[in-house]
Amino acid sequence: MQRTYIADLAKNVGQEVLIQGWIHVRRDQGKMVFFDFRDMSGLVQGVVLPGSEAIETAKNTREEFVVGVRGRVNERPERNRQADKQNGSIELEVLGIDILNTSEPLPYNVHDDTLGINEEIRLKHRFLDLRNSRLQKNIRNRDAVIHLVRNTLHDQHFIEVETPILTKSTPEGARDFIVPSRKWPGSFFALPQSPQQYKQLLMSGGVERYFQVAKCMRDEDGRGDRQPEFTQLDMEMSFVERGDVMALNEQLLISIVTELYPEKKIQEIPFPRISYKDAMAKYGNDRPDVRNDKNDPNLLAFCWVVDFPFFERTDKSDNPDGKGEWTYTHNPFSRPLPEHMANLIEKKNIGDIITSQYDIVLNGFEIGGGSIRNHEADALHTVFQILGHDGDKIEKDFGHMLTAFKLGTPPHGGIAWGLDRLVMLLQNEANIREVIAFPKTGEGKDLMMNAPSDVSEAQLKELGVQIQPIK
Ligand code: ASP
Repeated sequence: MQRTYIADLAKNVGQEVLIQGWIHVRRDQGKMVFFDFRDMSGLVQGVVLPGSEAIETAKNTREEFVVGVRGRVNERPERNRQADKQNGSIELEVLGIDILNTSEPLPYNVHDDTLGINEEIRLKHRFLDLRNSRLQKNIRNRDAVIHLVRNTLHDQHFIEVETPILTKSTPEGARDFIVPSRKWPGSFFALPQSPQQYKQLLMSGGVERYFQVAKCMRDEDGRGDRQPEFTQLDMEMSFVERGDVMALNEQLLISIVTELYPEKKIQEIPFPRISYKDAMAKYGNDRPDVRNDKNDPNLLAFCWVVDFPFFERTDKSDNPDGKGEWTYTHNPFSRPLPEHMANLIEKKNIGDIITSQYDIVLNGFEIGGGSIRNHEADALHTVFQILGHDGDKIEKDFGHMLTAFKLGTPPHGGIAWGLDRLVMLLQNEANIREVIAFPKTGEGKDLMMNAPSDVSEAQLKELGVQIQPIK
């Protein structure tokens, strides 16, 4: 017999069906046994009537056993109907139960909201945690967001291109995770902090419209909205200006909300644009929470923050003038606004140069950022000079970018969203761990796999790696 999903049972009243799933609840009432059965599509009540052949097996089951259940879909008598519940007007009269797997009692109750349960226990048993309906909704809605984005971008002539995970350090500003190379002892790969350089080189390669649901790794301390490994929706386009990238992304975000979260309200469309200067003056930070009602869980206040300074001084004051070196505020590959290009080329009024960077902020969280890039080799070279790199270092670290830019790279720009953070906000969660299937703890550990872990002496030897205590 073919399996019927629980969500489709109501279409099969009077029929005999087979469902497969878990025993969600079991209530043994002596002559009768009541169940709630669960599969990925929902819940249904089942009953084993007195004298049924299934009664013996029913008595030997427990919650979370995996079962195949043959039964007849019956309408419930009027007085037993629960209009507000899935399958509240039907029940399954159980005719036979096939036990597909047993289950020991679970270490904690996964049916009720698990937010109050010790997080270490939850993360250690993440595969159980995922059975909880809130977590199921979070990962299913996350999938719906990604699905919509993929479809929409494909319709607009983007293609998804995978970029390497074993790569070279990129200057995203965070610490790299590094991977020793067996074939080249003493040399290391870095895990990507973002696909920044690759996506720009794809523009050089004529891809024109690229996106990727990309894993990014940054060895930073954890926070509620940060994980060492996270997902970006990354994109890059050729022949665009700042307004083009912003308009496309704004429309994409609006579609996500209107199509997938119709209960939510976007405070203002088009999204307001605030300059960095005004944001700092008015809100004291560059990711302002512009909601006019902070108690409304369904209010989404997007805004763009633009016109950031390109460079700022580091806080080191070991220079004779007491000022630190120049560093970039966002991305060294950004291009200044057109009217600030001359200052960059002439290295004049460096602190006043404004970049084309745009950040997208939602309810006080930065959910994305990007810029138009310097696609001319000379301009990019000048940026690295201002940052204090000497010619050899520029060539060693970024020679491939400069070469590409001398060989017909079109003007281009892009953006990356922090997908976990966006989904966290859309799902009204307070922590990105709730919307990631297998997250790390705040201390950066995977408690379920027990990673990071030690490796064998033989593995270390092969890599030429020696462990020394850190002082
Ligand atoms: N690569 C940048 C980041 O990770 C985003 C971008 O400029 O496209 O922040």
